Amino acid sequence: MVDSGPPLQDRSTQLVATLTRPPEQAAAAIERLPESVGWIEVRADLAGDADAFALREASGRRLVYTRRSREEGGDDELSLGERHERLVAAGERYELVDLELERDLVPAVLERIPVGRRLVSWHGDAVSRQELESRLEEMRAVPARLYKVVPSRSEADPSSAATSRVEDGPIRGGSASEPEADLAPLALLAAAGREDVVAFAGGRSGFWTRLLAPRLGAPWVYAALEEDSARIAAPGQPSVRCLVEDYGLPGLPPLEALFGLVGRPALHSLSPRLHNSAYRELGLPFLYVPFEAGRFADFWLHTVEKRELDDLGFPLRGLSVTTPYKETAYAVAGAASPRAHRLEAVNTLVRREGVWEGESTDGDGVTRPLADRGVELASRRAVVVGAGGAGRAAALALANSGAETWLANRTVERGRAAAERLGVSFVPLTELELGSFDIVVNATPLGMEEDDPFPFEIGDLAPEATLVDLVYGTEPTALTSVARERGLAVVDGLEVLRAQARRQFEIMTGRSMPPDEREAPLRTGGEETWHHRLPSTDRR
Ligand code: NAP
Repeated sequence: MVDSGPPLQDRSTQLVATLTRPPEQAAAAIERLPESVGWIEVRADLAGDADAFALREASGRRLVYTRRSREEGGDDELSLGERHERLVAAGERYELVDLELERDLVPAVLERIPVGRRLVSWHGDAVSRQELESRLEEMRAVPARLYKVVPSRSEADPSSAATSRVEDGPIRGGSASEPEADLAPLALLAAAGREDVVAFAGGRSGFWTRLLAPRLGAPWVYAALEEDSARIAAPGQPSVRCLVEDYGLPGLPPLEALFGLVGRPALHSLSPRLHNSAYRELGLPFLYVPFEAGRFADFWLHTVEKRELDDLGFPLRGLSVTTPYKETAYAVAGAASPRAHRLEAVNTLVRREGVWEGESTDGDGVTRPLADRGVELASRRAVVVGAGGAGRAAALALANSGAETWLANRTVERGRAAAERLGVSFVPLTELELGSFDIVVNATPLGMEEDDPFPFEIGDLAPEATLVDLVYGTEPTALTSVARERGLAVVDGLEVLRAQARRQFEIMTGRSMPPDEREAPLRTGGEETWHHRLPSTDRR
């Protein structure tokens, strides 16, 4: 038998790295695990039965054995009898064995796995807090070292065309609204006041609950051992790198204010990395989390207006707003800047003396990098291609900076109406002659996918023109690469993101983002779009 180590209550939050393929295939990632990862969870339903002794020796970590059943979102194919035999065998070799409430708490298993090695878990449909409490009570009837409660709503794929652009799209799942369901496990933790309960909301919308749960006493935070999205076992599960670099875990400094990004999707955003690293640098007791909200109205009611987060000790002070909610956010703002009124959209909401004030910093994302590199805007000819929220904000900011500004759009009526409202000129995209412009902005989503065509003919740009591409991804976009090859000055989407985040940071905190942090964080960590392709089979 192996030593189970001191009781969990004696430790601060532990990071648990989930392994989803045989250890020998993940050897490099295991070797790179940061010190702060205390445990490896072997998902035997995905990785097979790993050699626990070899893995413990290679990793220096304690091990938990999990065979997530299909009923609970995993891929265990064994009969119940065989499953129980494997669990019992794992009890000889692993420090902890995950036993599912619904199927594993039988005498044949419990008589052979001692209390100190039991982790009793439940993964199921989202239910009310009261129902979660009774579930936990049921679990606690069986003595164990740790209890894990993970309710989830089944979610529409936020990256699908059917849902991602529609303002208040359909949400499938139980009867509770999404934010109510996501808040329930946090309320459970707060009420339980115990240090042997791990509870968070599964799924993409519940991502942020994983970050706050340890502040309510949850002793563990699960994360994917490998960064590769194909190795992430559950929708909404972050990687170890993400938890450490973007959210500063396992450190839990006191939290005086919570900020966040609301959108659909939201988990792909680099904003948490930017804001949180700046908080750390400045010693600000704040945290910034992504809220992936299926319906803005539900989010606003439960998470914002009812102040349920405030009640849990996380006062929500500000929000970044992204697609498709900028117009709705403008509608709910209690006050708005003249620029926001003109755009009828906001990407920033801050709560001041109980009033949510709206602002749009999207335009700063374009004009600030241009100003930083000495591009004169007054009297220059600028064209923004794309008349969506970002394009309109860019056009207004360029016009306000004195540029002779044009808006070009594929859909003529939409583009013309937007240009009229902003007081800039309009040209249908098919009639655009790029050669006469000094500044050309791509504000269409073209470039997000590898096989996207260019939004315009790059060869038509004047050699001294500056290209601004709002699109960003893991690699430079093809548009910016070709423009650079041709010797054009280029502002890429990451620069745009940084510049608008810098302005948001000033509005939200009253402080400037430290200069180093504007540059450094985005270059670390590699892939930032890993959340997009999560498998939907597992709930955790
Ligand atoms: P949006 O509201 O959906 O508007 C998209 C615009 O692109 C519309 O005008 C649309 O024209 C046009 N468009 C879409 N597909 C097109 C195509 N195949 N050919 C020509 N035009 C096309 O989007 P948004 O919020 O303005 O954002 C636009 C892009 O900017 C997105 O990729 C977004 O991620 C990016 N963005 C980046 C940052 C940053 O910080 N880097 C900030 C904001 C936005 P129709 O009117 O004809 O549909």
